[in-house]
Amino acid sequence: MAAVSPVPTGPVPHRLLTLLRDTGPLSRAELGDRLGVPRARALAEIDALIATGYVREAGPASSRGGRRSTLVELDPGMRFAAVDLGASSIDVEITDGRLEPVAAYGEPADIRSGPKVILRRVNEILAKLRAEGAFTSLHAIGIGVPGPVSFRDGVPVSPPIMPGWDRYPVRDVLAREYSCPVVVDNDVNIMAIGERYGGVARSVDNLLFLKIGTGVGCGIYLGGEVYRGTDGCAGDIGHMWVDDHGPVCSCGNVGCLEALFSGAALARDALAAARSETSPALAERLAANGTLTARDVADSAAEGDATCIRLIREGGRRVGTVLAGLVSFANPSMIVIGGGLAGLGHVLLAEIRSVVYRRSLPLATGNLPIVMSELGPRTGVVGAAVLASDLAFGSQER
Ligand SMILES: [Zn+2]
Repeated sequence: MAAVSPVPTGPVPHRLLTLLRDTGPLSRAELGDRLGVPRARALAEIDALIATGYVREAGPASSRGGRRSTLVELDPGMRFAAVDLGASSIDVEITDGRLEPVAAYGEPADIRSGPKVILRRVNEILAKLRAEGAFTSLHAIGIGVPGPVSFRDGVPVSPPIMPGWDRYPVRDVLAREYSCPVVVDNDVNIMAIGERYGGVARSVDNLLFLKIGTGVGCGIYLGGEVYRGTDGCAGDIGHMWVDDHGPVCSCGNVGCLEALFSGAALARDALAAARSETSPALAERLAANGTLTARDVADSAAEGDATCIRLIREGGRRVGTVLAGLVSFANPSMIVIGGGLAGLGHVLLAEIRSVVYRRSLPLATGNLPIVMSELGPRTGVVGAAVLASDLAFGSQER
């Protein structure tokens, strides 16, 4: 595929491109004002970006008095691919330069099939979207994977639920295939970035994003950026110890948070409740469908099934206890709950809130909203698109 122009470098082009991404077309005069550099310098930078094809002129701006200025906008043909690999799903979105979705596609997939199978499927999905006209070439790709990532090397590192992926060169394989820069991050980190960019946490600089899905993880967004930790596994709270008497976790330890409460744990508990007849609603669903998932627990709870409500409450308490510790540690100004199990709804949210507000220091929770993700299933792809565009728009360093 044809490569796009080289990535611009320097703080001014980066600010200029992100301004156009986040606010839309601006006049040359406004851009000059907002960049805070001398007018001649701003105009020269704009011209240089027009020459690369990243931006273009879009007609006259409305007059501010005096000479008319010209509107400048991102090239309408600019495209990013955002890929969110979950434990059991692939979601792909193609966006324009302003991160508006141009096309989207999602399907179930088992991450344990390994990198060759999963990335081949990603390639097939992208080929299909390209054939449908969503893009001709890509300016950058952002991809999230459900495990620890070396952000610098663009590879998963010892991911517990991703056999075959350890140090697989995800970034380099995709970069070669699409002749564009690629950024790889942990799936919960991209969700935190997505919610912060376009969701309920817009412009919040200290944010915890709690994902409750097949597993449990936390995106840590502090001081205006994601904190990834030394080895890329910061926020891997699913394996924090919560109970000596808990079940054995997939990681081999006993009593991890996600062994007690997660999509997988809830499905296991639902099966036990159905077989022991403590939940008539679950027994009925098991008889009808032959299997049970966290969704069945949510639906039965909504119908008033006491056992299901208790399972969700207990889970909320476990999560709340861990979150209360994180609140005391990081003093965030917002907590966002997302992931597949966010659908457990108000029972879960109420329980988490009550534990966090009771167990954290009053100063840390005095004004702390704990809210559901606004972007829902799109959170990950939105964050992946933000990372892709940040990469395409070049380094902030001179
Ligand atoms: Zn564990």
